[in-house]
Amino acid sequence: MQDQGLPRESVDRLLASAASRDASYGDGTVLSSMCTDPHPAALDAHRRFVTANLGDPGLFPGTAELEREVVEMLGDILNLDDPAGYVTTGGNESNVQALRCFRDDAETEDPNVVAPESAHFSFRKAADLLGIELRSAPLDDRYRVDPEAAARLVDDDTVGIVAVAGTTETGQVDPVPALSEIALDRDVRLHVDAAFGGLLLPFLDDPPRFDFSLPGVDTVTVDPHKMGLSTLPAGGLLLRDPDLLDAIAVETPYLTSDTQHTLTGTRTGAGAASAYAAMKSLGRSGYRDVARRCVRNAHHLADRVRDTDAVHLPVEPATNLVPIAHRDPGDLSRRLETRGWITSVSTTPEALRIVVMPHLDRDTLDRFADDLEDLA
Ligand SMILES: *Cc1c(COP(=O)(O)O)cnc(C)c1O
Repeated sequence: MQDQGLPRESVDRLLASAASRDASYGDGTVLSSMCTDPHPAALDAHRRFVTANLGDPGLFPGTAELEREVVEMLGDILNLDDPAGYVTTGGNESNVQALRCFRDDAETEDPNVVAPESAHFSFRKAADLLGIELRSAPLDDRYRVDPEAAARLVDDDTVGIVAVAGTTETGQVDPVPALSEIALDRDVRLHVDAAFGGLLLPFLDDPPRFDFSLPGVDTVTVDPHKMGLSTLPAGGLLLRDPDLLDAIAVETPYLTSDTQHTLTGTRTGAGAASAYAAMKSLGRSGYRDVARRCVRNAHHLADRVRDTDAVHLPVEPATNLVPIAHRDPGDLSRRLETRGWITSVSTTPEALRIVVMPHLDRDTLDRFADDLEDLA
């Protein structure tokens, strides 16, 4: 670090140079991300609340109230009255915290959790941090967990089952109703990771059931910073039973609150304020429009893939995520990059993974499909 501070213009130049190398959602080339440009009101709210510290909520009662209202609204969308929970930094934190609640609320010395093979990598972090054995349940031919196979992995030391509503690699939705039955029957907790699908699926015609309307569901992860159009970081962890959150609370002697159940200590209020602004600005009808447009566009891309010989759909899209199978998806992804397209590759199935977020319109997807046809 240099000794003398730089003038503001020099700092700006350095920042501009870094920013110029970053991707921009607005130019329509990012087909790999579950994030997108936030709602304008969310961006304004972020700026206004960026210095509010929710780790010390007594100093920021206004921001703390916004956070509580975000949790209430998420509960309303996910069919839970009086939800417990808080605004996290994202799906990783929510998933770690859900399993931490399950572990600390259970009696066993040797805890295990049963999760689908398709579960997000954050569950591996959780298992490592928490000393939990992670048991992988196999998938069916549509990349959803096989509930009977999951049930067979449950034993006396199982503290929870995980289901995914909108998997990271294929966007499929696990059979949560069947897993809810199993969880009740075997008396284990059930966590639904709806980081991606939680603010999409409820707004579709004829949505699959995955939320608190199922009596076995104890906790849900839902990320406003994905389909919720908030800025990042804004994740959500919702719990049916407030006592479950108390299982992980620690005492906080020097702060305005007596205990803390969050993973992070000092934490920005910007995410909560931004999620609040996005949800208030859009309402259910706004989210319905966004969700339906993204899913319609995803099906449009899927139709183009169906008409192209060298690629195919390994599974029909269940959300706005379109996996595109090819004999060498890694190579195809690199060649698409030479035409400016940023795609990602999944491993199960081996495929290009295209996430049709709100920043991708139909013209963009048609141009992408033309290049795909050309290069595949
Ligand atoms: C994105 C995602 C996560 C991780 O969320 P972050 O916000 O990146 O921490 C977890 N689970 C699923 C299903 C996801 O799609």
